[in-house]
Amino acid sequence: MLIVRDLHTSYGAIAALQGVSFEVPEGSVVALVGANGAGKSTTLNTISGLLRPESGSIRFGENEIAGWRPDRVTGLGLVQVPEGRQVLGSLTVEENLLLGAYTRKDLDVSRDLRDIYERFPHLKKRRRQIADSLSGGEQQMLVLGRALMARPKLLMLDEPSLGLAPLIVKEVFRIIAELKERTTILLVEQNARKALQVANYGYVLEGGRVVQEGPADQLQGDPRIVEAYLGRK
Ligand code: ATP
Repeated sequence: MLIVRDLHTSYGAIAALQGVSFEVPEGSVVALVGANGAGKSTTLNTISGLLRPESGSIRFGENEIAGWRPDRVTGLGLVQVPEGRQVLGSLTVEENLLLGAYTRKDLDVSRDLRDIYERFPHLKKRRRQIADSLSGGEQQMLVLGRALMARPKLLMLDEPSLGLAPLIVKEVFRIIAELKERTTILLVEQNARKALQVANYGYVLEGGRVVQEGPADQLQGDPRIVEAYLGRK
């Protein structure tokens, strides 16, 4: 579904991605793990069109999308949930959710809204509240719900567990496990343990390069991975 080949992206003189290649097959959850600064967010932001690659190929279905503008990429069903829970704080929960559907051409938005409220009952209770009044965990649910309103074919999640309390982290990963029944997911996480538990396949990024890859259960059992990324519970 998504095939990334030899991607290079720089910030001025800083070469953040130095030839990243990986694939996300339809129906799978693929995790990109790695330390701070490894290039995970840069990879997602290049795919979603927020950054322009210097070279390399990003193939999504039939289209070569490297260098496309973000709205065109989203229009194909490739939807990113960026790091940092970017809700529109002065809008209500429901207005935030509806914004997720703005690129859609069909009119069946109210049914999807009902679905989202079923999946996230907390959001239903708070539908008329402004998003700023939600807790961090609720805001993470809101950005996930908003992304689902776009009916993504491929959902890219950037550090969905960052800064959340352990119980909420558990809840976020429970939802990701549910979402994988209906959409393909590319997951970026520093929490490699949780990410590899939910993923089918994983890639390890280091210094802007993929240094290791494999089925998620194999990576979880690999002594080098355990030492570098899974040591701390
Ligand atoms: P994090 O978990 O901290 O987001 P990451 O793996 O997602 O880590 P990136 O944010 O993709 O890593 O960063 C990759 C490299 O690019 C790092 O060396 C980082 O310092 C650099 N970098 C990231 N954003 C910028 C920027 N806006 N300007 C300059 N350099 C940047």
